[in-house]
Amino acid sequence: MRYEVRGPLRDVLICHCVECRRWGGHSGAFAATSAEDLVTAGDQALRWIESPESTRKARRGFCAECGSSLFWQAAGAQRISIAAGSLDPPTGLRVAAHIYTHDAGDWDELPDDGLPRDPGASFDPRWS
Ligand SMILES: [Zn+2]
Repeated sequence: MRYEVRGPLRDVLICHCVECRRWGGHSGAFAATSAEDLVTAGDQALRWIESPESTRKARRGFCAECGSSLFWQAAGAQRISIAAGSLDPPTGLRVAAHIYTHDAGDWDELPDDGLPRDPGASFDPRWS
């Protein structure tokens, strides 16, 4: 499936939570946009699964044809997170912060990049 974003994208958050690790094999990298600005095509291939350990009762969307991890959305949220690796370049995005750093895998050494870190993603409403 393909999708198009018709509104502004938030910069990328690197999520080190357990579910991102399991879903993508490592930390997750997500931009975000307003759900109404996300237009999908060929979305008979779009599948949603519950994210059972999510503190925000989220769901995750992926492409059933190619297996790509695509979306994350908290229950009732107007915003939707988009796997940054699925965006066509150039995105113009930068990494803004690391979140759920307390869940990082023991091999996952956080870079000394000077970016904000939040163990629970509670610090900035722009990043919700
Ligand atoms: Zn995560």
